[in-house]
Amino acid sequence: MRKLTLLSLIFCLGMHLSAQNISIAKQLVDTLTSTTMWGRGYTKEGNEKAALFLKNYYQSAGLVPLTGKDYYQHLSFPVNTFPKNMELTINGKTLQPGIVFIVSPESKGTKTKGNFIQKDSTLFVDPNKRVIIELKDKLTWSVAPEAKDYTSVEVLKSALAEPPKSYSINIDNKVISSFKTANICAAVKGTVQPDSFVFITAHYDHLGGMGSDTYFPGANDNASGTTLLLGLASYFSKHPQPYTIAFVSFTGEEAGLIGSKFFAEHPLVPLKKIKFLFNLDLEGTGLEGATVVNASIYKKEFDLLKAINDQYKLLPAINQRGKAANSDHYWFSEKGIPSFFMYTLGGIKAYHDVFDKGATLPMDHYENLLKLMEEFVARVQQ
Ligand SMILES: [Zn+2]
Repeated sequence: MRKLTLLSLIFCLGMHLSAQNISIAKQLVDTLTSTTMWGRGYTKEGNEKAALFLKNYYQSAGLVPLTGKDYYQHLSFPVNTFPKNMELTINGKTLQPGIVFIVSPESKGTKTKGNFIQKDSTLFVDPNKRVIIELKDKLTWSVAPEAKDYTSVEVLKSALAEPPKSYSINIDNKVISSFKTANICAAVKGTVQPDSFVFITAHYDHLGGMGSDTYFPGANDNASGTTLLLGLASYFSKHPQPYTIAFVSFTGEEAGLIGSKFFAEHPLVPLKKIKFLFNLDLEGTGLEGATVVNASIYKKEFDLLKAINDQYKLLPAINQRGKAANSDHYWFSEKGIPSFFMYTLGGIKAYHDVFDKGATLPMDHYENLLKLMEEFVARVQQ
């Protein structure tokens, strides 16, 4: 399936920008959120497959490695994973992983049964077996670097008729002390000043899988930003700019902005040569506009972005925000590189859960986001 998708993408890359953009983009989101890529995380080689797909895309679109001959900037970090069993029964009822329960990312695996002591209205523990159940209104998963000495499970409150009393549990975990991954780094060489750079970045990793049957597709977070970045890579490969335009797909964002931190500490180009960095994360809509982190710090560039938006009527609003350590731009702006992080607003409630799917991702302003970025990147070099 992946091969077919890639072939059809290569075919489409020859076309001019048109209404084709959106169907190519939806196909990219489908590929990135597919079972094959398993949430672009830490089991079933999901992260590795996503990385290879991106490298092949860049190569097919005519982009070169940012430096040297390798698109990969290799790195590794520790992560707690859940590769196999993911079973929970409470009060005799078997619960569905992902939908009704999630295991807390720092949990160790266990196979046992027992009874709970109620601590408060939402917290239930079996101190002997070190099993904890917490009732929640919404399930939100994440990634942890290690396993603690307990097994904690969050259960959707509305799924239980009565407070948890008895349980049986069968969960496996595996700590990978050095998970091997990579940032994928490509470029369109500048025509006038190739040693000056505009960076466009988006993390391609997501949370991965939880047990052998459940994965987190991460459509809005961040197949959407990755897709927008790839659309821009195709565009700029046909429209080279005075500066080199760099495209970096970061890994390990969900594990704590790890890939971008590694890049900022081991830069492939001199950091002071990066004239502007634009990070894309959560780009699946635009129905209610977008918010730009660091807008109040880089006022001139924010005014430029607003002027482009006013001129072409692309998004209903672009809001400004100050500094925030909420995505991969952070390490770069901390090092004094002018950087924006833009995220879109409206239409999607799914966040870090199994419902963040390609099928329900609006993609309603995709073409407009492309146009906004194309114009901004062109004019920010002037
Ligand atoms: Zn994200």
